[in-house]
Amino acid sequence: MKSSQSVVLASGNAGKLREFESLLVPLGFSVRPQSEFNVSEVEETGLTFIENALLKAREACRVSGLPVLADDSGLAVDALGGAPGIYSARYAGEPKSDEANNRKLLDALSGLPQTRRTARYWCVLVYMRHAEDPVPLIIQQYWDGVILDQPRGEGGFGYDPLFWLPEHGMTAAQLSAADKNRYSHRGRAMRALVEQLS
Ligand code: IMP
Repeated sequence: MKSSQSVVLASGNAGKLREFESLLVPLGFSVRPQSEFNVSEVEETGLTFIENALLKAREACRVSGLPVLADDSGLAVDALGGAPGIYSARYAGEPKSDEANNRKLLDALSGLPQTRRTARYWCVLVYMRHAEDPVPLIIQQYWDGVILDQPRGEGGFGYDPLFWLPEHGMTAAQLSAADKNRYSHRGRAMRALVEQLS
């Protein structure tokens, strides 16, 4: 791999940019946000995390002419056939609200016993070398949990206060940020990506 190969991050999220930078800079990449190239947001018309991550990556490749890293993630609840899935961020509609999403999820699972409240966070990362890359690197990782019937904890974001981790005896919102990175779907996906790129 050439030293200081640029990779464009297909996201406007400053937190994600920092996280990806800390992992990819040691591998000789310089991470650049897609805003530097005026990439506009693509319509996420796919029905899977993979399709949507590919759409984002391809558009950013096309506009920037550089390799791109794109991600897509969300929560899939078994009793809801995988919902909210790709609609996780806007489950309760616009404007996006974590609180409204969590309330809707609790209503949807109301009355279900703990054994039927199993769920999984998913994270997909796509590394695409150019817009016509026929073999983009695709990584798909998950994190198992159980949806509580009321929120616990103040950390994290999104569905974390409802996402109970039986092996830790706490929710994702009660884990420290470092521990969440260690165990989460996103942390696992990033480590798998680094392994494959390096
Ligand atoms: P994105 O990866 O920013 O597109 O996230 C999609 C949505 O999935 C978020 O808005 C959250 O609702 C949910 N989500 C993804 N990862 C997590 C997580 O680690 N904790 C809580 N919610 C998450």
